[in-house]
Amino acid sequence: MQTPQSPCASPHSEPSFKITSRPDLADWLNTCPSATTAYAWAPSLGHYILWPVRCKRWSCPFCARKKIGRLAHRVEDAQPNRLLTLTLDPSRYESPRHAFDQTRRRVPELFRSLRPKFGPIEYLRVTEITRKGWPHYHCLIRSGFLPHACVRDRWKDLTGAQIVDLRQVQRSFSAYSYLVKYLAKMHHLGWTERHLSFTRNFFPPEQKPPSPMPPHDRARHEKIHPVTFLCRYYAYLTIRRMPGDYYILPPVPDDFMNHALPDADVLPVTLRNLPEDSPLRERKPDAQQRLFTETRS
Ligand SMILES: [Zn+2]
Repeated sequence: MQTPQSPCASPHSEPSFKITSRPDLADWLNTCPSATTAYAWAPSLGHYILWPVRCKRWSCPFCARKKIGRLAHRVEDAQPNRLLTLTLDPSRYESPRHAFDQTRRRVPELFRSLRPKFGPIEYLRVTEITRKGWPHYHCLIRSGFLPHACVRDRWKDLTGAQIVDLRQVQRSFSAYSYLVKYLAKMHHLGWTERHLSFTRNFFPPEQKPPSPMPPHDRARHEKIHPVTFLCRYYAYLTIRRMPGDYYILPPVPDDFMNHALPDADVLPVTLRNLPEDSPLRERKPDAQQRLFTETRS
Protein backbone atom coordinates (compact mmCIF):
# COMPACT_ATOMS: atom_id res chain seq x y z
CA MET A 1 0.00 0.00 0.00
CA GLN A 2 1.30 3.45 -0.93
CA THR A 3 2.17 6.03 1.62
CA PRO A 4 -0.70 8.46 1.95
CA GLN A 5 -0.33 11.84 0.31
CA SER A 6 -2.51 13.06 3.09
CA PRO A 7 -4.97 15.44 1.48
CA CYS A 8 -6.18 15.72 5.05
CA ALA A 9 -3.15 17.73 6.08
CA SER A 10 -5.20 20.87 6.48
CA PRO A 11 -8.75 19.66 6.89
CA HIS A 12 -10.18 23.09 7.48
CA SER A 13 -8.91 24.60 4.27
CA GLU A 14 -11.38 22.51 2.27
CA PRO A 15 -15.07 23.25 2.24
CA SER A 16 -17.28 20.98 4.26
CA PHE A 17 -20.94 20.48 3.56
CA LYS A 18 -23.77 19.69 5.78
CA ILE A 19 -26.43 17.60 4.18
CA THR A 20 -29.85 18.63 5.33
CA SER A 21 -33.36 18.08 4.09
CA ARG A 22 -33.43 21.35 2.18
CA PRO A 23 -33.05 21.63 -1.63
CA ASP A 24 -30.85 21.04 -3.69
CA LEU A 25 -27.79 18.83 -3.35
CA ALA A 26 -27.26 18.25 -7.05
CA ASP A 27 -25.72 21.70 -7.53
CA TRP A 28 -23.36 21.09 -4.72
CA LEU A 29 -22.15 17.80 -6.08
CA ASN A 30 -21.59 19.56 -9.38
CA THR A 31 -21.56 16.41 -11.41
CA CYS A 32 -23.24 14.66 -14.28
CA PRO A 33 -26.93 13.98 -13.67
CA SER A 34 -26.38 10.34 -14.68
CA ALA A 35 -23.35 9.79 -12.45
CA THR A 36 -23.23 6.73 -10.25
CA THR A 37 -21.41 6.33 -6.97
CA ALA A 38 -18.07 4.78 -6.17
CA TYR A 39 -17.52 4.18 -2.52
CA ALA A 40 -14.37 2.91 -0.81
CA TRP A 41 -12.37 2.71 2.35
CA ALA A 42 -9.15 4.76 2.26
CA PRO A 43 -6.82 3.14 4.80
CA SER A 44 -4.36 6.01 4.55
CA LEU A 45 -6.99 8.50 5.61
CA GLY A 46 -8.95 6.27 7.93
CA HIS A 47 -12.11 7.48 6.19
CA TYR A 48 -14.67 6.29 3.74
CA ILE A 49 -14.48 8.19 0.52
CA LEU A 50 -16.96 8.67 -2.29
CA TRP A 51 -16.55 9.91 -5.84
CA PRO A 52 -18.96 10.39 -8.71
CA VAL A 53 -18.52 8.13 -11.74
CA ARG A 54 -19.65 10.27 -14.67
CA CYS A 55 -21.54 8.88 -17.70
CA LYS A 56 -18.97 10.38 -20.13
CA ARG A 57 -21.48 10.63 -22.98
CA TRP A 58 -21.38 13.46 -25.51
CA SER A 59 -25.11 13.86 -25.12
CA CYS A 60 -24.66 14.79 -21.47
CA PRO A 61 -23.91 18.53 -21.37
CA PHE A 62 -21.94 18.23 -18.15
CA CYS A 63 -19.76 15.36 -19.36
CA ALA A 64 -19.43 16.88 -22.84
CA ARG A 65 -17.98 20.05 -21.30
CA LYS A 66 -15.45 18.02 -19.33
CA LYS A 67 -14.46 16.02 -22.39
CA ILE A 68 -14.12 19.13 -24.52
CA GLY A 69 -11.85 20.82 -22.01
CA ARG A 70 -9.56 17.81 -21.80
CA LEU A 71 -9.50 17.23 -25.54
CA ALA A 72 -8.83 20.86 -26.30
CA HIS A 73 -5.72 20.82 -24.14
CA ARG A 74 -4.50 17.65 -25.79
CA VAL A 75 -5.12 19.05 -29.26
CA GLU A 76 -3.05 22.09 -28.45
CA ASP A 77 -0.21 19.69 -27.67
CA ALA A 78 -0.78 17.80 -30.93
CA GLN A 79 0.15 20.94 -32.92
CA PRO A 80 -2.03 20.49 -35.99
CA ASN A 81 -0.85 22.60 -38.94
CA ARG A 82 -3.84 22.32 -41.31
CA LEU A 83 -7.56 22.65 -41.06
CA LEU A 84 -9.62 20.77 -43.63
CA THR A 85 -13.37 21.09 -44.08
CA LEU A 86 -15.10 18.33 -46.04
CA THR A 87 -18.66 19.09 -47.04
CA LEU A 88 -21.33 16.71 -48.31
CA ASP A 89 -23.93 17.09 -51.02
CA PRO A 90 -27.32 16.73 -49.26
CA SER A 91 -29.13 15.89 -52.51
CA ARG A 92 -27.40 12.50 -52.48
CA TYR A 93 -28.86 11.35 -49.14
CA GLU A 94 -32.24 10.67 -47.62
CA SER A 95 -31.47 12.26 -44.28
CA PRO A 96 -28.60 13.73 -42.26
CA ARG A 97 -28.26 10.43 -40.47
CA HIS A 98 -28.05 8.60 -43.78
CA ALA A 99 -25.41 11.06 -45.00
CA PHE A 100 -23.33 10.46 -41.90
CA ASP A 101 -23.60 6.67 -42.13
CA GLN A 102 -22.66 6.73 -45.81
CA THR A 103 -19.67 9.04 -45.49
CA ARG A 104 -17.96 8.77 -42.13
CA ARG A 105 -15.77 5.90 -43.36
CA ARG A 106 -14.85 7.91 -46.44
CA VAL A 107 -12.81 10.27 -44.26
CA PRO A 108 -10.15 7.71 -43.26
CA GLU A 109 -10.25 6.39 -46.81
CA LEU A 110 -9.40 9.83 -48.12
CA PHE A 111 -6.34 10.08 -45.92
CA ARG A 112 -5.25 6.52 -46.66
CA SER A 113 -5.23 7.35 -50.34
CA LEU A 114 -3.18 10.52 -49.81
CA ARG A 115 -0.46 9.03 -47.61
CA PRO A 116 1.51 7.11 -50.26
CA LYS A 117 2.14 10.34 -52.14
CA PHE A 118 2.28 12.94 -49.35
CA GLY A 119 3.71 11.11 -46.38
CA PRO A 120 2.36 10.70 -42.85
CA ILE A 121 -0.94 12.40 -42.06
CA GLU A 122 -2.35 12.43 -38.55
CA TYR A 123 -5.72 13.99 -37.93
CA LEU A 124 -8.63 14.56 -35.61
CA ARG A 125 -12.03 14.52 -37.28
CA VAL A 126 -14.93 16.47 -35.83
CA THR A 127 -18.46 16.06 -37.16
CA GLU A 128 -20.51 19.21 -37.33
CA ILE A 129 -23.92 19.98 -38.66
CA THR A 130 -25.03 22.89 -40.81
CA ARG A 131 -27.95 25.06 -39.80
CA LYS A 132 -30.20 22.76 -41.80
CA GLY A 133 -28.89 19.75 -39.93
CA TRP A 134 -26.59 18.20 -42.56
CA PRO A 135 -23.26 16.82 -41.39
CA HIS A 136 -19.87 17.91 -42.59
CA TYR A 137 -16.41 17.19 -41.28
CA HIS A 138 -13.65 19.32 -39.91
CA CYS A 139 -10.24 17.75 -39.69
CA LEU A 140 -7.35 19.17 -37.73
CA ILE A 141 -4.36 17.74 -39.54
CA ARG A 142 -0.66 17.39 -38.88
CA SER A 143 1.09 16.64 -42.15
CA GLY A 144 3.47 17.85 -44.79
CA PHE A 145 2.29 19.77 -47.84
CA LEU A 146 -1.11 18.72 -49.24
CA PRO A 147 -2.29 20.24 -52.54
CA HIS A 148 -5.89 21.42 -52.34
CA ALA A 149 -6.73 20.08 -55.80
CA CYS A 150 -5.67 16.53 -54.90
CA VAL A 151 -7.71 16.50 -51.71
CA ARG A 152 -10.73 17.98 -53.48
CA ASP A 153 -10.62 15.53 -56.39
CA ARG A 154 -10.20 12.54 -54.12
CA TRP A 155 -13.10 13.62 -51.88
CA LYS A 156 -15.24 14.10 -54.95
CA ASP A 157 -14.42 10.56 -56.12
CA LEU A 158 -15.37 9.22 -52.72
CA THR A 159 -18.56 11.16 -51.98
CA GLY A 160 -19.54 13.21 -55.04
CA ALA A 161 -19.22 16.40 -53.00
CA GLN A 162 -17.53 19.40 -54.63
CA ILE A 163 -16.61 21.67 -51.77
CA VAL A 164 -13.44 21.18 -49.79
CA ASP A 165 -11.71 23.88 -47.83
CA LEU A 166 -8.08 23.37 -46.88
CA ARG A 167 -6.09 26.00 -45.10
CA GLN A 168 -2.83 26.20 -43.34
CA VAL A 169 -3.10 26.89 -39.66
CA GLN A 170 -1.40 30.12 -38.70
CA ARG A 171 0.99 30.17 -35.83
CA SER A 172 -1.52 32.28 -33.94
CA PHE A 173 -4.28 29.75 -34.56
CA SER A 174 -5.46 28.33 -31.30
CA ALA A 175 -6.58 24.75 -31.62
CA TYR A 176 -7.83 25.17 -28.10
CA SER A 177 -10.30 27.91 -28.86
CA TYR A 178 -11.31 26.26 -32.11
CA LEU A 179 -12.26 23.13 -30.28
CA VAL A 180 -13.98 24.80 -27.41
CA LYS A 181 -16.05 26.85 -29.82
CA TYR A 182 -17.03 24.03 -32.16
CA LEU A 183 -17.13 21.08 -29.87
CA ALA A 184 -19.36 22.94 -27.47
CA LYS A 185 -22.19 22.49 -29.97
CA MET A 186 -21.64 18.79 -30.30
CA HIS A 187 -24.19 17.47 -27.90
CA HIS A 188 -26.86 18.86 -30.22
CA LEU A 189 -26.05 16.33 -32.97
CA GLY A 190 -28.66 14.03 -31.55
CA TRP A 191 -28.40 11.08 -33.92
CA THR A 192 -24.95 9.87 -32.99
CA GLU A 193 -22.47 9.72 -30.14
CA ARG A 194 -19.60 9.32 -32.61
CA HIS A 195 -18.74 12.99 -32.77
CA LEU A 196 -15.09 12.64 -33.38
CA SER A 197 -12.32 10.26 -34.18
CA PHE A 198 -8.57 10.56 -34.48
CA THR A 199 -5.60 8.63 -35.74
CA ARG A 200 -3.54 6.72 -33.25
CA ASN A 201 -0.56 9.07 -33.37
CA PHE A 202 -2.42 12.35 -33.55
CA PHE A 203 -2.00 13.04 -29.85
CA PRO A 204 1.41 12.97 -28.24
CA PRO A 205 1.67 10.45 -25.41
CA GLU A 206 -0.11 11.80 -22.37
CA GLN A 207 1.77 12.46 -19.20
CA LYS A 208 -0.81 12.01 -16.56
CA PRO A 209 -0.34 13.94 -13.35
CA PRO A 210 -0.38 11.79 -10.24
CA SER A 211 -3.92 11.17 -9.07
CA PRO A 212 -5.00 13.30 -6.12
CA MET A 213 -7.21 10.41 -5.06
CA PRO A 214 -5.95 8.62 -1.96
CA PRO A 215 -5.17 4.91 -2.25
CA HIS A 216 -8.29 2.97 -1.49
CA ASP A 217 -9.44 -0.59 -1.23
CA ARG A 218 -12.67 -2.53 -1.22
CA ALA A 219 -14.15 -0.01 -3.63
CA ARG A 220 -17.76 -0.62 -4.49
CA HIS A 221 -19.80 0.77 -7.33
CA GLU A 222 -23.39 1.75 -6.58
CA LYS A 223 -25.74 2.21 -9.49
CA ILE A 224 -27.29 5.23 -7.89
CA HIS A 225 -26.50 8.91 -8.14
CA PRO A 226 -24.13 10.21 -5.45
CA VAL A 227 -26.86 12.53 -4.25
CA THR A 228 -29.23 9.62 -3.75
CA PHE A 229 -26.50 7.64 -2.08
CA LEU A 230 -25.72 10.43 0.36
CA CYS A 231 -29.36 11.05 0.99
CA ARG A 232 -29.94 7.43 1.78
CA TYR A 233 -26.97 6.77 4.02
CA TYR A 234 -25.52 10.06 5.16
CA ALA A 235 -28.34 12.54 5.43
CA TYR A 236 -27.80 15.14 8.15
CA LEU A 237 -24.06 14.50 8.33
CA THR A 238 -21.23 16.78 7.34
CA ILE A 239 -19.01 15.61 4.54
CA ARG A 240 -15.89 17.18 3.12
CA ARG A 241 -15.00 17.83 -0.50
CA MET A 242 -11.38 17.16 -1.40
CA PRO A 243 -9.29 18.28 -4.38
CA GLY A 244 -9.56 15.66 -7.10
CA ASP A 245 -13.31 15.25 -7.09
CA TYR A 246 -13.79 13.01 -4.12
CA TYR A 247 -15.49 13.40 -0.80
CA ILE A 248 -14.63 12.28 2.68
CA LEU A 249 -17.50 10.78 4.54
CA PRO A 250 -17.78 11.43 8.23
CA PRO A 251 -17.20 8.78 10.83
CA VAL A 252 -20.43 6.91 11.34
CA PRO A 253 -21.36 4.28 13.92
CA ASP A 254 -19.31 1.10 13.86
CA ASP A 255 -22.24 -1.14 13.26
CA PHE A 256 -23.09 0.79 10.11
CA MET A 257 -19.56 0.37 8.78
CA ASN A 258 -19.67 -3.33 9.40
CA HIS A 259 -22.86 -3.66 7.46
CA ALA A 260 -22.07 -1.16 4.81
CA LEU A 261 -18.86 -2.57 3.46
CA PRO A 262 -17.70 -5.92 4.82
CA ASP A 263 -16.42 -7.08 1.41
CA ALA A 264 -16.09 -5.73 -2.06
CA ASP A 265 -18.52 -8.25 -3.44
CA VAL A 266 -21.26 -7.67 -0.91
CA LEU A 267 -24.65 -6.55 -2.16
CA PRO A 268 -25.44 -2.88 -1.74
CA VAL A 269 -26.62 -2.25 1.75
CA THR A 270 -30.11 -0.92 2.22
CA LEU A 271 -31.73 0.53 5.27
CA ARG A 272 -33.83 -2.61 5.42
CA ASN A 273 -30.87 -4.85 6.26
CA LEU A 274 -29.35 -2.61 8.89
CA PRO A 275 -29.50 -4.13 12.35
CA GLU A 276 -32.55 -3.34 14.47
CA ASP A 277 -30.62 -1.11 16.84
CA SER A 278 -28.70 0.88 14.18
CA PRO A 279 -29.00 4.59 14.73
CA LEU A 280 -29.31 4.93 10.95
CA ARG A 281 -32.59 3.09 10.97
CA GLU A 282 -34.37 6.27 11.85
CA ARG A 283 -33.17 7.88 8.64
CA LYS A 284 -35.64 6.33 6.29
CA PRO A 285 -34.98 6.99 2.62
CA ASP A 286 -37.68 9.20 1.28
CA ALA A 287 -38.21 9.49 -2.45
CA GLN A 288 -39.61 12.94 -1.99
CA GLN A 289 -36.83 14.09 0.26
CA ARG A 290 -34.89 16.93 -1.26
CA LEU A 291 -31.42 17.70 -0.12
CA PHE A 292 -29.48 20.78 0.46
CA THR A 293 -26.01 21.57 1.58
CA GLU A 294 -24.53 24.59 3.12
CA THR A 295 -20.86 25.46 3.07
CA ARG A 296 -19.32 25.49 6.44
CA SER A 297 -16.13 27.32 7.18
ZN1 LIG B 1 -22.81 12.64 -17.82
